[in-house]
Amino acid sequence: PAPLAEHGPAQIIAMCNQKGGVGKTTSTINLGAALAEYGRRVLLVDFDPQGALSVGLGVNPMELDVTVYNLLMERGLTADEVLLKTAIPGMDLLPSNIDLSAAEVQLVSEVARESALARALKPLLPDYDYVIIDCQPSLGLLTVNALTAAHSVIVPLECEFFALRGVALLTETIEKVCERLNPDLRLDGILATMYDSRTVHSREVLARVVEAFGEHVFHTVIGRTVRFPETTVAGEPITTYATNSVGAAAYRQLAREVLDRCRPAE
Ligand code: ADP
Ligand code: MG
Repeated sequence: PAPLAEHGPAQIIAMCNQKGGVGKTTSTINLGAALAEYGRRVLLVDFDPQGALSVGLGVNPMELDVTVYNLLMERGLTADEVLLKTAIPGMDLLPSNIDLSAAEVQLVSEVARESALARALKPLLPDYDYVIIDCQPSLGLLTVNALTAAHSVIVPLECEFFALRGVALLTETIEKVCERLNPDLRLDGILATMYDSRTVHSREVLARVVEAFGEHVFHTVIGRTVRFPETTVAGEPITTYATNSVGAAAYRQLAREVLDRCRPAE
């Protein structure tokens, strides 16, 4: 991909699936790191009170004084008081911890409760090329905030038998947000994860996903490898932890697809 002469305004991507353990956090970190390798400025938003994205980048969520929660709930706080630099040049993090779980309840009584995150991110957009929001595994108000802020959605799907269960509910939610809150929201892609080419089962699931979603499925498929759990322990992306691995190559390929697909509508 060609280097950029100037940066921003950012395309916002929500990494979303209400099922846990499908690769949302792993894909957020590694897609972000691969985009940063290609010279893009990237902001990752940890929007799960579990703080797994923060942990995956070597941050201890329990030690944070301010997080994305404060950015949502406190007027007057600016993003640079919350932003953290990561070890990856060009990639920053809005971290989170268990405090964020209170926002789900507190936002309910707010005016425009669905657009709190969009408001918080707005001043940051000129500084970045991509903002990737790592959603929590639910379709509650936090996830609706992510979908309201986003230009597009990436849905990681684990290549397992029940992967497609629940996807109808997710696409309905995306359609509702599109109708009521964010008419420009696009489903940019279904990302097959944890694919095991040695099993007939994985191949069958992938074939069914392609049958169901056609052009919406990214050509990149993320294979199952123990290197990914290792990177979590190491607190860094696979692109630096195991830079020549198959997993790193896969997320670089995904980044090239994203550069191609996830761009403003002409
Ligand atoms: P989510 O954010 O959707 O809950 P994670 O990205 O945290 O999912 O992944 C769940 C677990 O699976 C983590 O332990 C992670 O390291 C592991 N994992 C993610 N992607 C892969 C993969 N392609 N191959 C093997 N393990 C993976
Ligand atoms: Mg996660």
